[in-house]
Amino acid sequence: MTTVGILGGGQLARMLALAGLPLGLKFLVLDPSAESCAGQCAPLQVGGFDDEAALAEFASKVDVVTFDFENVPASSAQWLAERVPVYPNPRALGVAQDRLSEKTLFRELGIPVPAFATIDSREDLDVALVEIGTPCILKTRRFGYDGKGQFRIKSPADAQAAWDALGAQASTVGLILEGFVAFDREVSVVAVRGRDGEFKAFPLTQNWHVDGVLSASLAPAQASPAVQAQAIDYARRVAEAIDYVGVFALELFCQGETLLANEMAPRVHNSGHWTIEGAEVSQFEAHLRAVLGLPLGALAMRGHACMLNWLGEMPDADGVLSQPGGHWHDYGKSPRAGRKVGHATLRADTPQALSSVVAAAGEALSRQAQVQPVVAVLSGV
Ligand code: AMP
Repeated sequence: MTTVGILGGGQLARMLALAGLPLGLKFLVLDPSAESCAGQCAPLQVGGFDDEAALAEFASKVDVVTFDFENVPASSAQWLAERVPVYPNPRALGVAQDRLSEKTLFRELGIPVPAFATIDSREDLDVALVEIGTPCILKTRRFGYDGKGQFRIKSPADAQAAWDALGAQASTVGLILEGFVAFDREVSVVAVRGRDGEFKAFPLTQNWHVDGVLSASLAPAQASPAVQAQAIDYARRVAEAIDYVGVFALELFCQGETLLANEMAPRVHNSGHWTIEGAEVSQFEAHLRAVLGLPLGALAMRGHACMLNWLGEMPDADGVLSQPGGHWHDYGKSPRAGRKVGHATLRADTPQALSSVVAAAGEALSRQAQVQPVVAVLSGV
């Protein structure tokens, strides 16, 4: 029996384990917290990602290693890779951990990106503010996620406040200033590349964020075939350039027919959760197939799907379970403000049918504001 080791024990590891059991796989999850929600579905080893003894024990028990969490120290990923196959490879992980290196790679590959500049000092910020202009966003280069480690600068007068908020991190995780993109839509490509280089992508997903955190996704995105093809081609270029193996997401801003790359996530991604019920092979199964060198199969969609994220605490499940095509995912986490505790997927055969079940679920859960942008797009189809 093959044992897949997963670094990080959050909901992504949990859903990987749930997808892998029918394939006859065993799992071992390494996480510093004994409360990790993946531990409810798979054996959990409690240990630090930088603890060599813990890593050695973990490596001795698994056949292949992958990630639920991209901020595992690159040195730990490298240490493991010298002992056991690690996918994605540590170099790919390293590129995706740093907003500067990923944006530099995108640009080298001919993929448009927002204007950006490295910020090492307060003076750099003043220079970059003139170059890039406002509005713009100051972000930490590393360890930022879900809108954390970001400060929006509306006018040059906000520069000091931005520096007060993040300046201390310039010498630790590094900072980057990015031009603010007045996008029409945000989309993501969730794609997979096999060990043999075979590449496949799910249909483009449209995403809505609130305070930098994903709130809702719709697949397929309402985008022209040219935009779909362009986005998927960008994802392929990135994957090939870093010899990526497994599932990853490329997040893009869409302005008319132009796409600008925001970032890549070197793992299964929240904007791909709809694939569990909405695609022939889910992103979780696709990732496992890729890292194990199994055939990837077809990623074809089943109709249309909408995913709604639950943050803080779980709403009442009945509002979704009572809808045709309504599916519920409770990650088994204790409630905490802003925490991703679960999601729902609504699936239907047509955009019209999806629009009515999404609206009905929003009504039943008093989440009208969350579903409104999805319903608006679907009713325009
Ligand atoms: P990130 O952590 O970089 O994915 O940012 C989280 C969210 O903040 C994105 O999904 C966007 O909604 C918004 N955002 C981040 N960077 C930019 C940007 N340069 N221009 C406009 N919106 C942005």
